[in-house]
This record gives sequence, C-alpha cells and structure tokens, in this order.
Amino acid sequence: MRVFVTGGAGYIGSHVVKMLGEKGYDVLTYDNLSTGNRWAVLYGKLFVGDLSDSELLRKVLQDFRPDVVMHFAASIVVPESLREPVKYYTNNTMNTLNLLKIMLEMGIGKFIFSSTAAVYGIPEKIPVNEEAPLNPINPYGSSKTMVERILQDIHSARSDFKYISLRYFNVAGADPGGRLGQAYREATHLITRALKVAKGEYDRLQIFGTDYPTPDGTCIRDYIHVDDLARAHILAMQYLMDRGETDIFNCGYGHGYSVREVVKAVIRVTGIRIPIEETGRREGDPPVLISDNSKIKEKLGWTPFFDDLEYIIKTAWQWEKMR
Ligand code: UDP
Repeated sequence: MRVFVTGGAGYIGSHVVKMLGEKGYDVLTYDNLSTGNRWAVLYGKLFVGDLSDSELLRKVLQDFRPDVVMHFAASIVVPESLREPVKYYTNNTMNTLNLLKIMLEMGIGKFIFSSTAAVYGIPEKIPVNEEAPLNPINPYGSSKTMVERILQDIHSARSDFKYISLRYFNVAGADPGGRLGQAYREATHLITRALKVAKGEYDRLQIFGTDYPTPDGTCIRDYIHVDDLARAHILAMQYLMDRGETDIFNCGYGHGYSVREVVKAVIRVTGIRIPIEETGRREGDPPVLISDNSKIKEKLGWTPFFDDLEYIIKTAWQWEKMR
C-alpha cells in the first residue's frame, strides 16, 4: 500500500513516516522543508515541494499513485497565527483545499487530516467529545475548522471520498529511539521551551497567565506522546482502508496537567532548576483542553502506551540533550 505524506519531514509527520516505514508501507514524503528537516525522513523518498505548486503536486501524485494521503503540512503556532492570520489561512486552509482538489481530479479518495483540539475553542464540557460545537478562538483553530467543514461538504457530495480527521491535543515527547524529535528553529511549545531553558538556551520560562479558572490558575492541557499519536494514524488508516468509513477522532489521554505541573515534572526529570517568570495571559489560549478519548479507543482499538508525563518529558529531554 502506498501512502503519500505531506509534512513528513516535520515533527509529527516524521514520527508517522517512521512507523509506516517500520510496518512496511510504501511511503513518500512531500514537504517544503520550511520547518521540516531532510534528516527526519527515515523511510521512503522525500520530495521537496510546496502544496501551492499544483503542477508539481499533480506530477508527484501521478507518479506515486497513492492509496491514501496523510496531510500533516501546516503552520501550528497559536500566537503566530494571531500575528499572521493570512499565513495560516494560506498554508492550512487554501493549500489543503488545493491538495483536495487535485486528489479529487485524480480519483484519490482516502484522506487523513491533522486536525486539532483548537477547533473546540473554549469547550462547554470537559472532557470534550467529538460532538461538541466547533468554536475556535484563534486563527490557527479557525484555519483547521474550515478544512473540517470543507471535508464534510466534499464527503456529502462525493461517494468516492472518505476521510478521517484526527483532532490532536498537545503533542509532545520524542522518538524513544532518539532518532526524531521537535526541531523547530524557535521553540514555542511548553515542554520544549521548558527543556531548552533547562539546557540554557533560554534564560527563563514564562508562564502565560496565573489567573485562569483552574486549581492553580494556569492552563491545563492534555499532553500526548507523539508515538501514541503516530499509532493512532496507522490505526485510522487501516480503518479507512478496511471499512471505508469517514470519521472524526480526538487524540489525547483524557486527562490533563497545568502549566505549573508540567514545569514541576520537567524539573524532576532534568534535575535542573528552571527560572520562571509569571506573565500575563497569552492571547488565544483556552483555560482547559482535555479530550474525551472513548471514541478512538472503542472504534479504532487505540490504547495509549506512553500515558506518563515524566516519560514524555524524558524522551523529549533525551532528544534535546543530543541536539
Ligand atoms: N505556555 C507557557 N509558557 C510557554 C509556552 C506555553 O506558559 O513558554 C502555556 C500556554 O500559554 C498554554 C500551554 O502552555 O497554556 C500550552 O501551550 P503550547 O504552546 O505548548 O501549546 P498550545 O496549547 O498552544 O497548542
């Protein structure tokens, strides 16, 4: 089976490519290397190209003839999306639409989409399940929500198009084998940022907001190990191929940690004191995001292997120390 992976040189994509390769799938990565890295593609060929380049994309798809497309390529930083919304609607919405258009033209009808918990905005009920209304509160979340809507509409119109949308909660950690991990030029995500402070790359960690309606006043997130998420993709793909059913799944562990709890865990794992600065809230942050993961467990038979914050941090720390 042939799997076409956009963004396969990026953080999550590269972990999925690794798993696909290990399982013997024929995989081809299409990535513009804007945030991804050549060395991160451990299996299959890497094609350097942009999703807006229809001609190239068409050609690569024509040559490879994939059975399924997994689409990771996207911009993913919430604060940046508030500063540069056009970048987010271009990269995440327009480019996805372009990819879908070409897939449909070519008769490729199986799609796995990297969606996000940010589609929920500030959920009314925690843990949030897949039926909750979509009310994104930042351009990143909106850019992904729009794609979900497009997917739903294409699905209604075309019986030959089936997709699975995976709504990621906070993805963290690194390949336990030490070959892959987060490698962005600028670290913005909490665990990576905290580890880089431990390493001395930044002088302090800012805690964005201590007055949220949570037990310790800081935001709570559901952190999921990247390899558990990668396995969710394999299961989703098998489900899509075997059953041909469209569906949407939350990907998280179903419980969360506050920013302060994460910081404490980082200190425990690294043994390094981390200078902290408590600052105001960061725009676009919902107070609490925790998944209801019963659907993915039930329908895909997914079970977490690494539901342990310290283990997640340990793998990320091992990776950081090597960089
Ligand atoms: N956060 C923080 N300091 C940082 C980075 C993040 O306090 O240097 C907080 C952020 O405000 C949010 C949580 O950590 O409440 C998770 O943020 P992250 O950027 O890791 O992921 P997001 O939830 O935005 O996708």
